[in-house]
Amino acid sequence: MAGFFNPTIRELKKLLHLMRHCKLLSFIQINTSANFEVIHCLKMTKRNKIGVLDLQGGVLEHINHLQALGIEAVRVKEASQFSDLAGLILPGGESTCLIRLLNIFNITPTLKVAFADGMKIWGTCAGTILLANKIEGDNTQLNLMDISVARNAFGFQLDSFNTKVKVPKVCAHEIDLTFIRAPKITKVGVNVKVLLNIDDYIAAAEDENCLATVFHPELTPSLAFHKYFVEKCGLQTNDSHDSLKRTSWMKLARITAPSE
Ligand code: GLN
Repeated sequence: MAGFFNPTIRELKKLLHLMRHCKLLSFIQINTSANFEVIHCLKMTKRNKIGVLDLQGGVLEHINHLQALGIEAVRVKEASQFSDLAGLILPGGESTCLIRLLNIFNITPTLKVAFADGMKIWGTCAGTILLANKIEGDNTQLNLMDISVARNAFGFQLDSFNTKVKVPKVCAHEIDLTFIRAPKITKVGVNVKVLLNIDDYIAAAEDENCLATVFHPELTPSLAFHKYFVEKCGLQTNDSHDSLKRTSWMKLARITAPSE
């Protein structure tokens, strides 16, 4: 392909379908902007891993939950790591920082190609903000899901809270939810299903390819949301347990003292 080409997800899907149909190419080359050129290597390998975007935010806790379900979980730091991902988790953190890092490391185009090629995405908290196609008072980021969000909708960091709810489609019993300076999903498009409504806002929603939660299941012992996402990605979990024994994630914080 020559010339500049800034495809929509729909165009990328058509292109990938065509390429697969022709069995001619195992790579595509896309000019994503007038300023630079990106070459994607989407090798047609078996997609059997779940990635967690590892640029900023709560990564290890997601990895830990996925591993507890017997899933091969990888920390995704660069564009070359997308070829065998059945799903990708965009973790909680700080959405402005995450999008800046995605752009600095030039990951966004490959992420969109992998998404168009069937990789599912789960956004937790800041990750949900990245997915949204409308952000109140702010610019949109990845634009992959037909939801509107309001950032920092509960107030300051100190207004963060825990609650317990039942999300029938995800788990038969009540689970803990942790909201950390969370956004609210304020509206969803016709192709998006609401999984959890609380008061005046939507806390969890999904469409065919994305799952969005404004809270952090990875900071609770429950494996229910991770299991739900893994199955959405077409992978099998080991069904032995639905909750971790651990209730604190402090040991996952890799804080090392400066050497003397
Ligand atoms: N307040 C953050 C933002 O707007 C999200 C917080 C979180 O991910 N826990 O990006």
